[in-house]
Amino acid sequence: MSDNIQTVTVLSKTTWTPTLFSFTVSRPDSFKFTAGQFVRLGVNPSQLKYYQQIEASNDTSDTALNEDIFRAYSIVSSPFDEVIEFFSIVIPDGAFTSQLQHLQVGDELLLNTMPFGFLTLARYQKPLPKDLWLLATGTGLAPFLSMLQDLKTWEDYEHIVLAYSARSTQELAYVDKIKSLQEDFGTLVDNPAKLIFIPIVTREPVDGALSERLPKLLLEGTLEKQAGIALDIDTTHVMLCGNPDMVDDTKEALKSLRLVMNRRGEGNIAVENYW
Ligand code: NAP
Repeated sequence: MSDNIQTVTVLSKTTWTPTLFSFTVSRPDSFKFTAGQFVRLGVNPSQLKYYQQIEASNDTSDTALNEDIFRAYSIVSSPFDEVIEFFSIVIPDGAFTSQLQHLQVGDELLLNTMPFGFLTLARYQKPLPKDLWLLATGTGLAPFLSMLQDLKTWEDYEHIVLAYSARSTQELAYVDKIKSLQEDFGTLVDNPAKLIFIPIVTREPVDGALSERLPKLLLEGTLEKQAGIALDIDTTHVMLCGNPDMVDDTKEALKSLRLVMNRRGEGNIAVENYW
């Protein structure tokens, strides 16, 4: 086993829907990461009885390393938490996640402790932080929850807009947690950012939620109106995470609103495809 791989224990599990769940694992003392980063989480098929069919599967989204099977997961919890939290979808016939859904408290997983990924707020050098827009679909919410549990985020920005799109209310996970963030974190720093949460539910009408897809909401000005602030090329950082089609379409919408991709630290838009 590589030096970077450590065994972690499942400490809790929350089931949101039959295909969406979250879980926490123990955090090795040596493990450090930046909010927004990913890690590779693995299982050893020989260790757990319900993983034994994994190798027979032909799912290509999972990566085999030696005999263990690893998959990239973005971290939900803050870099300062004692545990590590993940938010997962069950992919039908997916070798890793369709097995992972059976996880139980006390089970062991493998963690590659080398974090990776550049969807971090530290990447922005210009413009300077003022307004942060976090646009997510589905489990793409995870890195944003981590950022929102980092005090620095609340110190650095004036406004944080979190627009989070799911197909149904049931799939709109973590809403209570999002609603308590302002109170929990906004009270710990001077002049904290103001969090503006914009839930979007696209496949059923829901009071208090928008119903169109993110690119349309941007192009029609609905999102800015709902947020009460403008997307300004000189003051806006905007991050996208989730469905790759959403990321592509939303990127184009933002470009047509004159925002630019962040390259070598400069520019407004940073993206992460979630699968
Ligand atoms: P999803 O289909 O990604 O929908 C989540 C939200 O994103 C919905 O509000 C949806 O709107 C919106 N959306 C979809 N395409 C969009 C676009 N082009 N522009 C703007 N918004 C868009 O649902 P999900 O449950 O998160 O994932 C769906 C499928 O992706 C699952 O079947 C899963 O198997 C797969 N998936 C795979 C992985 C992986 O790692 N391989 C990870 C996550 C998900 P609409 O209701 O209008 O579509």
